[in-house]
Amino acid sequence: KTHEQLQQIRGNIRVLCRIRPALVRGEGDAADKVATTIPMPGLIRLNKDRRNMDFEYNSCFGGDSTQEEVFEEISPLIMSFADGYNACIFAYGQTGSGKTFTMQGTRENPGIAPRVLNFLFQHAKQSKEAGVERRIEFSMLEVYNESIKDLLSEESAKTLDICALGPNKLGPNMDRVPGLSKKTVTSVGEIEALIMEGTRNRATTATSMNEHSSRSHAVLSIRYCDANDTEAPAPVLHLVDLAGSERIARSGVQGVHLKEAQAINKSLSALGDVIASLQQKSSHTPYRNSKLTQLLQDSLSGNSKVLMVCNISPEESSASETMSSLNFAKRAN
Ligand code: ADP
Ligand code: MG
Repeated sequence: KTHEQLQQIRGNIRVLCRIRPALVRGEGDAADKVATTIPMPGLIRLNKDRRNMDFEYNSCFGGDSTQEEVFEEISPLIMSFADGYNACIFAYGQTGSGKTFTMQGTRENPGIAPRVLNFLFQHAKQSKEAGVERRIEFSMLEVYNESIKDLLSEESAKTLDICALGPNKLGPNMDRVPGLSKKTVTSVGEIEALIMEGTRNRATTATSMNEHSSRSHAVLSIRYCDANDTEAPAPVLHLVDLAGSERIARSGVQGVHLKEAQAINKSLSALGDVIASLQQKSSHTPYRNSKLTQLLQDSLSGNSKVLMVCNISPEESSASETMSSLNFAKRAN
């Protein structure tokens, strides 16, 4: 069967689960016991309270998986995007489970975002040889406490509004977030510089960069345009590094941290509800319950291709959070 036929059978949402390698502690320290394994392809096994629980997903990657293997697995989605479909990839999981490693990676181990852009630059080159000139536009924003901030704007604190029309009511190429900066990019170097700039603009509060990034959603958006036909619908790919899914202890959390925790809970559960509603093909999809779901609406509806990456920490000490992540992902599978 062709990729298209398979997609129609399975629906447009797929789930990839990736287990981070166990962290090596200080010398002499016993490594934390591992509780999450892959007993056979496509299955995640969590050992919790001396019981084994198995979860099935479209694809599962263990701690020894490479960035190349993950990219290979998602390449049909990227191909569909280059062919004109909206698409969305988001990484879900507790802080420290490997979301940023998977989505962005490191200089030595580039993740999904730089690989997608590399692929698109190649694709654009071939497309040009075939007579269609392409333009690649790049945006970067964050959603923090239910407000949207443009990370590539000169006014770095600028907060943007969202256009909350029904699915597909927005004209082609119209923006959900009017006024969001869009940069035309032509090389990997330019992208790296923009991502660095955007990352710098995220760290504005007194908390450390890591703390802040675990409490906000980062969205990289890539638009693949026909350079000579501005009217032609241009597909958008959103790459989303979600806020940490850990349930923040209720007791003792007050003020700004309580507000943050409530905003994260609200947006992650809204995302889960939208995904579940799409999987059940229900007639009403509740996009309006959070800024995140409104923002991603056009890439979560219709023929859009959606991939949830569920990132898992393998350690026994994370077993409760792991179970809640695996259950979240199960709703989408
Ligand atoms: P998160 O973004 O979910 O908080 P990170 O991506 O920052 O988590 O990962 C936590 C740490 O584990 C980082 O130091 C990261 O480089 C490392 N790490 C995560 N996943 C992998 C992996 N698959 N292989 C090697 N190191 C990883
Ligand atoms: Mg991170």
